[in-house]
Amino acid sequence: MKNISILGSTGSIGVQTLDVIRQHPEQFRVVAIAGGTNSDLLIKQALEFKPSIVSVGNSTLAEKIRMELPDEIKVLYGQEGLIEVATHPQCNFVVSAIVGSAGLLPTLSAIEAGKSIGLANKETLVTAGHIVMEKAKEKNVSIIPIDSEHSAIFQCLNGEITSGVKRIIITASGGSFRDLSREQLKEVTPQQALNHPNWSMGAKITIDSATMMNKGLEVMEAHWLFQLPYEQIDTVMHRESIIHSMVEFEDRAIMAQLGTPDMRIPIQYALTYPKRLALQTEPLDLLKVGILHFEPLSMERYPCLGFAYEAGRKGGTLPTVLNGANEVAVARFLKGEISFLGIEHVISSVMEKHHVISQPDLETIIEADQWARDVASKM
Ligand code: NAD
Ligand code: MG
Repeated sequence: MKNISILGSTGSIGVQTLDVIRQHPEQFRVVAIAGGTNSDLLIKQALEFKPSIVSVGNSTLAEKIRMELPDEIKVLYGQEGLIEVATHPQCNFVVSAIVGSAGLLPTLSAIEAGKSIGLANKETLVTAGHIVMEKAKEKNVSIIPIDSEHSAIFQCLNGEITSGVKRIIITASGGSFRDLSREQLKEVTPQQALNHPNWSMGAKITIDSATMMNKGLEVMEAHWLFQLPYEQIDTVMHRESIIHSMVEFEDRAIMAQLGTPDMRIPIQYALTYPKRLALQTEPLDLLKVGILHFEPLSMERYPCLGFAYEAGRKGGTLPTVLNGANEVAVARFLKGEISFLGIEHVISSVMEKHHVISQPDLETIIEADQWARDVASKM
């Protein structure tokens, strides 16, 4: 029996994680859940899965939830609540599925407490990859990817050592605007950007997919997870989202992992690894798919991908700053404060203003993140 805590249970990944757990009640038990502001859904989830701790974004919502739940369920809030969910004594597996660098400290505390991690929250690795990976090594904790591309690479690598790897090839659907020119991008609205062709996901990652920053964040995520230099991490546009990513080995053999675009497949694999369990999902019918397409991803068309490679290669506090600026820029675009192309403008301007600090400790990371957010908010 795996005892699971979920950080971000009310989000797209959180809800799908609970769906996987619902399919296998004899394998998994939910011991703690945490969400932000959707208190109604948290109450519903708590009544169904009966965790011993529920955490919510603030004290007012905690009061409301307390009134609806039986006394034996402890209701907490804020940062403290997240940490208690992440370190629950009975928990042995934490699904890290909060959006943004807000997931960093709870994920680190779960690692510190020796819990295995199923990682959806890529911003955690982008913002503090060296600290997270070092802590995981020290505590002998495994970090199993949930992001579909990284799950694919993880599955392709199974049993192989990364020294035999020539390169990894991360696939990208292209996002909502893949068929628009840069000229056409000047006019696009948040509503149009939120309309992803292949995946239904949270708002932030859907915008990141449209700017291609999501792929950039995934390149950095892969760098840390698989300990590969950026020269060995390539990206390719693949409209169908059927091949979730590939590994090319030294002998030029390429392994690819294919499947229906359904996040429950990588989520469940993280939960069951190294075993596999049946999952109720649409099987992939290659005869229906027929043809798979591959196109180059141009850094002129998608500057955010270039920013991410630059930040990853330069390292230090630059990835943290890129990530913080991106989070603010995306939020401002969604609020209608800046244009779609304004997102990349904000990110590149904040990166330019930043004096990179190498080998930053956690405190320096948190300061750099805050600095980037402040600058990006005023721009
Ligand atoms: P989402 O917006 O749907 O959900 C985010 C969750 O985090 C919600 O439960 C929200 O309440 C919670 N949350 C946000 N800020 C919080 C805070 N400060 N305190 C407590 N809870 C907070 O996002 P999502 O699409 O589920 O994505 C979650 C993470 O998984 C992101 O890092 C994303 O990049 C990654 N990811 C998502 C998908 C996907 O298909 N949705 C795929 C791959 C990776
Ligand atoms: Mg992904």
